[in-house]
Amino acid sequence: MSYAYDDQNIFAKILRGEIPNTTVIETEHSLAFHDITPQAPTHVLVIPKGAYVSFDHFASEAGEAEIIDYVRTIGQVAQMCGVDLGEGGGFRLISNAGRDGVQEVPHLHVHVLGGRGLGRMLQ
Ligand code: 5GP
Repeated sequence: MSYAYDDQNIFAKILRGEIPNTTVIETEHSLAFHDITPQAPTHVLVIPKGAYVSFDHFASEAGEAEIIDYVRTIGQVAQMCGVDLGEGGGFRLISNAGRDGVQEVPHLHVHVLGGRGLGRMLQ
């Protein structure tokens, strides 16, 4: 399986510092920043620093250190934003991929949404 990564996508430009972002947390392998069009009081995007298009690309090619860092960063974002189950009312993770997933930006990202009742998505 080969994945084509477009290094002109918006999140690649954010990682290179060509476009500003409002950072929530930056780690060795990951960056989390506020979505420019928030759909909830907490709406943070978490991206790996590596050039991965989607979750399947990341899962098949990323190293263990990147994967551990990414998963931990997503959890830390929930905690830092006060939506984690220790302190807050909960959250939802979404990662759109490809055409059918209606992915707008072709660099892997997980949306962390919370701060309000999000309703049921799956029936
Ligand atoms: P997707 O539909 O690919 O899952 O989501 C892409 C997300 O990126 C959208 O929620 C959109 O609002 C966000 N986005 C697009 N351009 C920018 C940008 O330049 N900066 C930030 N912070 N978010 C962006």
